[in-house]
Amino acid sequence: MKLRHLTLLFLALALPARVLLAADSAAAKPLRALLITGGCCHDYAFQAKALTTAVEKLGPVTWTIVHEGGTTKNAKFPLYENPHWAKPYDVVVHNECFADLADPDYTRKITSAHKGPGGTPAVVIHCAMHTYRTLKVDDWREFLGVTSSKHDHQAQYPVTPTAAAKNHPAMRGFPAVWTTPMDELYIIEKVWPKTVALATSVSEQDGKTYPAIWTNDHDGTRVFGTTYGHGNVTWLDPIFLNYVARGVRWAAGREN
Ligand SMILES: [Zn+2]
Repeated sequence: MKLRHLTLLFLALALPARVLLAADSAAAKPLRALLITGGCCHDYAFQAKALTTAVEKLGPVTWTIVHEGGTTKNAKFPLYENPHWAKPYDVVVHNECFADLADPDYTRKITSAHKGPGGTPAVVIHCAMHTYRTLKVDDWREFLGVTSSKHDHQAQYPVTPTAAAKNHPAMRGFPAVWTTPMDELYIIEKVWPKTVALATSVSEQDGKTYPAIWTNDHDGTRVFGTTYGHGNVTWLDPIFLNYVARGVRWAAGREN
């Protein structure tokens, strides 16, 4: 009799514990993240280290880094020849700068992987917005959520969150105003219809307000973007690293 009671007590205690363990292991499942980086004008090795470290602080991540193209403006990545190149990943971060490459078939191999239900989510940073900027077709810009081909001079720009930032997981901890280190404000010529600005900055050249942090819905695939991230000083800034790292997790469907 006593043994039976003990057994029942053990079962009653053990069941919730097992459920909890299962939930814990699901939450701790490492994020599978791919970083595409390289090209002109920026210190991509430094930025890759800063990015991967910042995201790892929020939870376990298995990073794959594809850093190619040297300092050129027109490199092609052999990775994209595989039509399923993005499938193994929960999220792909684009932090590259290949402004002079204008091959629509090549670019569609990238954008089609980040499109529609079942597409692989993406995070797009700084010069990704000027990559493929001479393309006649808009596929890349529609994927990014913004069209930009030039930037304002380097300065310390105030960045102000929008109303949409209030409850957005990527913007947790973002201050009422963040002043960037010396960085470039990108002039946004077009904001695509499914883009939601999370923070904006005002150009010192033309006085206009431009999205600096945003989300895009690329036919059902999440995209998170920011135009800041030029110099290493920005990649040392805890506020920048926090929203980018949270943006990576949000894009991948990890809401915390
Ligand atoms: Zn730059």
